[in-house]
Amino acid sequence: MSDTKHNWTKEEILDIYNKPLMELLYDAATIHRKYHDPNTVQVSTLLSIKTGGCPEDCGYCPQAARYHTNIEGNDLMSLQQVKAQALRAKASGSSRVCMGAAWRNVKDGAEFDEVLEMVRTINKLDMEVCCTLGMLTENQAQRLAEAGLYAYNHNLDSSEEYYKEVISTRGFEDRLETIDNVRKTNVTVCSGGIIGMGEKEEDRAGMLVALATLNPQPESVPINALVAVEGTPLEDQKPVSIWDMVRMVATTRIVMPETQVRLSAGRTEMSREGQAMCFFSGANSIFAGDKLLTTPNPDVNEDMEMFKLLGLNPQKPFIKKMQPQTVEAADSQFQSLGEKPKWSRPDHTIERNESAKEKAKSLR
Ligand code: SF4
Repeated sequence: MSDTKHNWTKEEILDIYNKPLMELLYDAATIHRKYHDPNTVQVSTLLSIKTGGCPEDCGYCPQAARYHTNIEGNDLMSLQQVKAQALRAKASGSSRVCMGAAWRNVKDGAEFDEVLEMVRTINKLDMEVCCTLGMLTENQAQRLAEAGLYAYNHNLDSSEEYYKEVISTRGFEDRLETIDNVRKTNVTVCSGGIIGMGEKEEDRAGMLVALATLNPQPESVPINALVAVEGTPLEDQKPVSIWDMVRMVATTRIVMPETQVRLSAGRTEMSREGQAMCFFSGANSIFAGDKLLTTPNPDVNEDMEMFKLLGLNPQKPFIKKMQPQTVEAADSQFQSLGEKPKWSRPDHTIERNESAKEKAKSLR
């Protein structure tokens, strides 16, 4: 039986986060070795299958249509393109493909049917398939599960309190509801957040409380360092220090011992020594490829050199959970219901998001 603790408090987590560094690293590495192979790191590939034009106002995101950023938007990628990229990712050591679409929520219809086919296709390549498509209903989660989805990503981003300073177009509870819909299926949950958005340490701990008190805890937790993009409301944020990143990774490892902790956006700002400290203290996944959705990421060859230097091996797929079966569309038990997910819309605006929107209007 699992001995994972689910009743973490913010104070307990802050005490861990603020331990003397050597003690924190030792504790995290000890737990890491108990639950995971310390010399194995999963390589995942993130594909932006539909970029830009998003109606949400996430203050960190260059894909929000309301801000003026330099990203090139594109419509939904074709199945052939996705398959070709997945094969390329597999050949260069990735065992997981995460497909991201800049949608507020999943809408039943032709595009979602196409995404379901993409899931079927990648699962048949014997790779873990993850999707991040925005909010989704239970029926949509069931349809993804049936197609062979391994994981669904839906980040909490920050603490419930700080979330209101970053995003106004949906509430924290909507995020939890989507995670709950995923939990009603066999699909594993991937949910994490971003540090460096101007939040306090209490907010970092608050986010970890929200994740670690879920039962079961998410199987996967990405920890991102903000990549401040010009034109977004958070464009002036200073890069997060490696010490904060290491503390966050180590604390995540201690409070969620069985979880796959993913070192995600912001790796281009980190030295190899810094990344090695993150792996030592519990990170066991990276994203490969020269772009993470729209922001820069180290090149695959550089990552493979780093793996060699550190004696790390890429993790094989389906180590933590069996490969799901794919049910073909014709045999599906679930129909498209044409549902629109309900969501709460907090009745507030965020000043810096509004200013970035006004600035973008003046530049059009
Ligand atoms: S983070 Fe996702 S939901 Fe938010 S603006 Fe970007 S694409 Fe849209």
